[in-house]
Amino acid sequence: MNITINHEKISERKTDSGENLLEIKNLKTYYPIKGGFFRRTLGHVKAVDNVSFEIKKGETFGLVGESGCGKSTTGRTILRLLDPTDGQIVFDGNDITNLTGAKLREARKDFQMVFQDPYASLNPMQMVGDIISEPIKNYYPRKKSKEIKTEVMDLLERVGLPSDAYYKYAHEFSGGQRQRIGIARALALKPKLIVADEPVSALDVSVQSQVLNLLKELQDDFDLTYLFIAHDLSVVKHMSDRIGVMYLGNLVEVADKHSIYDEPLHPYTQALISAIPEPDPDKKKERIVLQGDVPSPSNPPSGCPFHTRCPLAKEECSEIKPQLKEVKQNHRVACILYD
Ligand code: SF4
Repeated sequence: MNITINHEKISERKTDSGENLLEIKNLKTYYPIKGGFFRRTLGHVKAVDNVSFEIKKGETFGLVGESGCGKSTTGRTILRLLDPTDGQIVFDGNDITNLTGAKLREARKDFQMVFQDPYASLNPMQMVGDIISEPIKNYYPRKKSKEIKTEVMDLLERVGLPSDAYYKYAHEFSGGQRQRIGIARALALKPKLIVADEPVSALDVSVQSQVLNLLKELQDDFDLTYLFIAHDLSVVKHMSDRIGVMYLGNLVEVADKHSIYDEPLHPYTQALISAIPEPDPDKKKERIVLQGDVPSPSNPPSGCPFHTRCPLAKEECSEIKPQLKEVKQNHRVACILYD
């Protein structure tokens, strides 16, 4: 996908505060596999398997990998839409891993989600004004209607929708406009973190850049931190400051975007990057074609999870599971080639 960057509006952002907004430590999310007459647990799908990373205040952390690699489950577990099986989620200095009830509800004000499918995530029969004001009314029941309406009108303007959108229904809008409504709803409670899960993959290519540029502009305006989940590597590159690459529930490489794209270290990342089309016909690059299918996360291979497809695998790769470790400054990789 070719992305047009709106340079006039997007200034160089400062993400070097060094302070973490989010810390994920050894996160595991397993789904039980039930079967038999008594619906006993027969095994587990290891959707997220011991994942650790951090996101600094104001930065965009991109999570990339093939579909089914666990990136969406990671995002939903962080938002506590799914319960983690193990590990720790620290948000803005507070451990939210096991929060429940009123404390979880209160914490949720600060982290919101932009969903993949704007067609499914909005009620087509609800007026746009009601969709966006709903979270405000839920969290601030004493707030005056007039004040809420002013806030919603302001949000409509900020996401590039006309003020009369307030009185229209979601089904009257195009996909791109609906995603703008979804973004306005996510911003209504002034969150600190937004998890954007494939936010443009359901949209026409012609409007994808507009929505991505809007997300970037809003990041500056609202002081937002993003966890940006996508399978499209050019979209992730455009949006992210740092990137984590996932394979079969595991994080296999983490680095700033330039290192990931210009100097990928993990053989899986190298294969992903080699598949990006090169726009300059004079520059030739060799494509690494991976053999075989991604194994099932209910029965992952022993040792390195990538060893069944890795073109550089050695004998010991089926026995030793490499841990993510720093091999260059701020560049972590899980591969025995760098031990
Ligand atoms: Fe390939 Fe072995 Fe490295 Fe895994 S540990 S990525 S199988 S070389």
